[in-house]
Amino acid sequence: MQKKINAVQGMNDILTDESYRWQYLERILQELMQRYAYQEVRFPVIEKTALFKRSIGEVTDIVEKEMYSFESGRGESLSLRPEGTAVCVRMGIERGLFYNQTQHLWYMGAMFRHERPQKGRYRQFHQFGVEVFGIDNPESDAELIYLSARLWKKLGIDKLLCLQINSLGSLSAREQYREKLVQFFTQYQAQLDEDSLRRLDKNPLRILDSKNPAMQALIQQAPKLLDYLDAQSKAHFEKVCAYLDAAHIPYAINPRLVRGLDYYNDLVFEWVTDALGTQGTACAGGRYDTLVEQLGGKSTPAVGFALGLERVLELLKIAEKQIPFNAPEIVIIMLGDAARQQVLPFIERLRDTLPDLNIMCLCESGSIKSQMKRADKSMAQLALIVGEDEVSKQQFSIKFLREKAPQQQMSEEQLMLFLEQKYT
Ligand code: ATP
Ligand code: MG
Repeated sequence: MQKKINAVQGMNDILTDESYRWQYLERILQELMQRYAYQEVRFPVIEKTALFKRSIGEVTDIVEKEMYSFESGRGESLSLRPEGTAVCVRMGIERGLFYNQTQHLWYMGAMFRHERPQKGRYRQFHQFGVEVFGIDNPESDAELIYLSARLWKKLGIDKLLCLQINSLGSLSAREQYREKLVQFFTQYQAQLDEDSLRRLDKNPLRILDSKNPAMQALIQQAPKLLDYLDAQSKAHFEKVCAYLDAAHIPYAINPRLVRGLDYYNDLVFEWVTDALGTQGTACAGGRYDTLVEQLGGKSTPAVGFALGLERVLELLKIAEKQIPFNAPEIVIIMLGDAARQQVLPFIERLRDTLPDLNIMCLCESGSIKSQMKRADKSMAQLALIVGEDEVSKQQFSIKFLREKAPQQQMSEEQLMLFLEQKYT
């Protein structure tokens, strides 16, 4: 026997016992976007590495160690997309989406990060993201949080999630704060771990984002960015808070929340849960008013968020959310060549007449017993059975799989009528 080839570590297959749950979530997200009148965009899975380096930041986890990068034939470095915001911005600039117009966009798809695989953390995972371009008002920020809160309610997982918010202020406020932070951490240099030591010069804010438990006590004592905001940032943040209050959305201000990407300013937020262990962030976002310019476009304010579908699906499981499994209504069992030849074309006509009916045809040659087993497993309500006997009598046997009712025999016309009555 040949040695078998397995999937890449940290990359999952989604099988039939899971895919209906994914479809459910995807459907809810699409409906939500329709209700808020946001439009879908789709973009490539591979982009130039420079795009992510320049946007996410050279000294971030993603760019330093998580990207799947490779050389193209022409010697240019390309990467599997680790996130969608930078790509959305690249696309918007390239396709002229930011001239004299605002955009309310969403996307959904696979992202790739070379992280240590564990529950809730995969190397191929899936994000749903929303990005609003061209509006710098706090109302945009608030609407994004409103719609995410509505999503949790709709999914029945609102009790599991808490909103944390912070303001990163303007670039100049952050420069000022950066100095204070370097001063502070330099004082305690001996307590810094290897990552943080490296970041002390290059990107001290990133130290606040450290996941190392040993660093948390020190991080707690560090100066707070909120104390260095300028008047405009302060006003923006207060307005967002007021909108959250007005909609009765509870939140906690977390001054250590800096997010793992460099492009944010002013509002940042995360929906966190303690139901998922250390992979506690289900959804995260914020404002990134300078990114479009940084990537070569004309200055365009923007705000957005992304959620991890795997983590949200896990929350649905924890909340024991009942998700309807799309079982067929009817399963067809044909025994023998004559039955198959007559019935298969008839079933096509049945599908024409009753387009809402979902019909599974077992086009197999197994025994009635083995086919009945399969019919039962399909979760269908009815089985239509046609064997030699039925063919000679021009009848169908109808077996009720989920209710106690005697088996019945019907002609084609009777069957059509019966199904029309039952399913329209
Ligand atoms: P974390 O702090 O968990 O590493 P992050 O800050 O890197 O998350 P973002 O880049 O903000 O995450 O991505 C937004 C969302 O995408 C996260 O909140 C999470 O739900 C999901 N996500 C990120 N990385 C992964 C991963 N490797 N596997 C599964 N989901 C992920
Ligand atoms: Mg991460």
